[in-house]
Amino acid sequence: RRPFPRPNRRRIITVANQKGGVGKTTTTVNLAAALAMHGIRVLVVDLDPQGNASTALGVDHRSGTPSIYEVLVGDRPLDEIVVQSGEAEGLFCAPATIDLAGAEIELVSLVARETRLRRAIEGMRNEVDYVLIDCPPSLGLLTVNALVAARELLIPIQCEYYALEGLGQLLRNVELVQAHLNQELRLSTILLTMYDSRTRLADQVVHEVKEHFGDRVLNTTIPRNVRLAEAPSYGQSALTYDPASRGSLSYLAAARELAERGADRGPRGAGLAGGAPPVG
Ligand code: ADP
Ligand code: MG
Repeated sequence: RRPFPRPNRRRIITVANQKGGVGKTTTTVNLAAALAMHGIRVLVVDLDPQGNASTALGVDHRSGTPSIYEVLVGDRPLDEIVVQSGEAEGLFCAPATIDLAGAEIELVSLVARETRLRRAIEGMRNEVDYVLIDCPPSLGLLTVNALVAARELLIPIQCEYYALEGLGQLLRNVELVQAHLNQELRLSTILLTMYDSRTRLADQVVHEVKEHFGDRVLNTTIPRNVRLAEAPSYGQSALTYDPASRGSLSYLAAARELAERGADRGPRGAGLAGGAPPVG
């Protein structure tokens, strides 16, 4: 295994798209596993009350388990709730329990409600190279916390009709966060997911997305592959569950690309979002 290059500075990447079912969690978990299997220390922060990323990493997230909820709402240090995933030596997870469903409301009345995750990550002792934050399918305070904590945004886009719908709303939120809370944030990476080579529509979406977002789109496209959907029920990433599957190999290639590109993609300042998206 050729090791992936380690970044000079910790990369904090938020994986967001307010649409559900586009592959956020699958992307977060499998990129994290691929990076960790190649010598990189990675923390996955599960910010979805459903806890799907925790499940896929084989990490306990029953209600009452020390979780990211206590960090955000109760000021508990991140190091106290982070657990190791069995997937790889350098892979860690901050689990989400269903308690997090209430956090969206509880956060509203707290001071520094948008910067809680950022502070928690800044205060962390565990020296990881990457932090990957898996967002819920909404644009509420949890996703805002993720955008404020990150330097990079990775948007998974499903190769389907209406794929770009709603993206405008996310990108406007990103611009607001950038203007008021986190100047460093950049849309660095787009990953096309669930590509089905049998449909012409999928190719149209790929073309449209590449035209709009240029070199921020990873060359690797993730195919529709049932192994990716099966793996979480075994508490595993696809890379562990079936390393030779097309899904695993594609995430491995995407992770290598991500690592080799480094953080320097996407314009700073105005135009971060790349203007209005073609649809939505
Ligand atoms: P999100 O986190 O955006 O809601 P998920 O990653 O949970 O999306 O994916 C939605 C569903 O699609 C899940 O059941 C997942 O296992 C499945 N899935 C994700 N990516 C693929 C893929 N490339 N091929 C087949 N199934 C996939
Ligand atoms: Mg998810």
